[in-house]
Amino acid sequence: MSRPIINPFDQSVIAEVEDATRADAEAAIARARTAFDDGAWSSTSPEHRAAVLNRVADLLERDKEDIARTETLDTGKTIVESRIDVDDVAAVFRYYGGLAGALHPKIVPGAGADVISRIDYEPVGVCGLIAPWNYPLLQMSWKVAPALLAGNTLVAKPSEVTPLTTILLFQLLDEAGVPDGVANLVLGTGPEVGAPLSEHRDVDLVSFTGSLATGQRIMASAAGTVKKVALELGGKNPNIVFPDADLETAIDYALTAAFFHAGQVCSSGTRLILHESIHDDFVAEVARRADLVKLGNGFDEDTESGPLVSAEHRAKVESYVEIGLREGARLVAGGKRPDEPELQNGFFFRPTVFADCRREMRLVQDETFGPIITVEKFSSEAEAVFLGNDTDYGLAGGVWSQDLDLAQRVAKRLRHGTVWINDFGPYLPQAEWGGFKRSGVGRELGASGLHEYCEPKHVYQNLKPAAQNWFARKDRA
Ligand code: NAD
Repeated sequence: MSRPIINPFDQSVIAEVEDATRADAEAAIARARTAFDDGAWSSTSPEHRAAVLNRVADLLERDKEDIARTETLDTGKTIVESRIDVDDVAAVFRYYGGLAGALHPKIVPGAGADVISRIDYEPVGVCGLIAPWNYPLLQMSWKVAPALLAGNTLVAKPSEVTPLTTILLFQLLDEAGVPDGVANLVLGTGPEVGAPLSEHRDVDLVSFTGSLATGQRIMASAAGTVKKVALELGGKNPNIVFPDADLETAIDYALTAAFFHAGQVCSSGTRLILHESIHDDFVAEVARRADLVKLGNGFDEDTESGPLVSAEHRAKVESYVEIGLREGARLVAGGKRPDEPELQNGFFFRPTVFADCRREMRLVQDETFGPIITVEKFSSEAEAVFLGNDTDYGLAGGVWSQDLDLAQRVAKRLRHGTVWINDFGPYLPQAEWGGFKRSGVGRELGASGLHEYCEPKHVYQNLKPAAQNWFARKDRA
């Protein structure tokens, strides 16, 4: 079936892609299985595979502008953001391209003089990789690069909403020398072509980035074959500001934390938690600046934020404005679509700020995944920590204070996979990324992001084998 791919800025059709069927997905799994069992990739040296990843990074840099433009057309994000994404994707391929040494066998110390005990890092096998629409290429690269370095074969499924840059990436994998059958791409919906990746007995690992609800479904269906599961799910991320923070900077970051990519970021700092002594002025200034955010075409230089990804997603974000108002939150900015005539065909929504929020509100607890800030107040360090942890999620959070002992203390107590002190948002290819609690299982990036795709195997070699005479001892014969 042919699927139109829509530009969220104006609803124009930018491409038509062919959705795969369940049978196509099963055929892709079979190709990946055969390629894995042949060993043509898994038996190459980690250094060989690393060199291929470095070639992919070179090709991404060569095609950067083309890929970035495609990502902006597909997601609506600004071209500046898309260029950053491509740079980050190349950096991830380079990082794993430098990590071949992590796959070398390790001798286990203390095994005894007459024993060689060794850990080998073998590939898991066939990996099913499923990505969301908000960072289509970036999220896929966090899976593809380590999976390939470890020697796996894979079947990847991008979001049906934003498949275009993943198609380009797979062309580059081919050009860089990934052999036939090793990296397979299937396009289409979750139930049709995503589900087989968690259900099929020939898939050994499923790595998923997306919503909590889908993650739960994938975990449940992966149980049937006890395959390995890696999940990067949602977040409801606190951004906590103490009164001694550099307030000008904290205000500036409060906006970026929540409105970057129209809030469609898993680690978005949507839950602003302010000390009561700075609350009123801080909120007034955040609201004033939220009203100034320039929405527009991602290709225009002065555009600060693009549209939401789809009509369906905007409807979900809008429903949270109604929920918030019903729950008694006070709208102090946005809460509506923009008025500009030139934005009426896009899925735009104004940056929105709600004050007087309470922890039990759905607006505060649910992941809205749009440009919505909720503001809560705290009066003590203990209360700030309590509110910061008052979520089923545990992906990321920020703490602002010039008292670094205080900031480190709070960071230590926050139950989130990433905590920023006097910052919000950065991540590093070499630092683990992932969630506590319902934000996920496992880690991406860093050395752990590679080991997700490895089976450590203990090989124990006895150098002086001799009868143990444990059973049926000769003296009893
Ligand atoms: P989604 O769960 O709707 O879809 C994600 C992917 O799963 C898509 O490719 C979709 O087609 C597929 N899918 C849907 N049903 C499936 C099924 N039954 N079996 C297999 N695959 C299925 O999520 P989304 O709306 O695309 O993305 C937004 C979500 O992703 C947000 O919750 C966000 O927080 C999360 N996210 C998390 C991270 C992270 O690093 N933790 C990063 C980006 C996005």
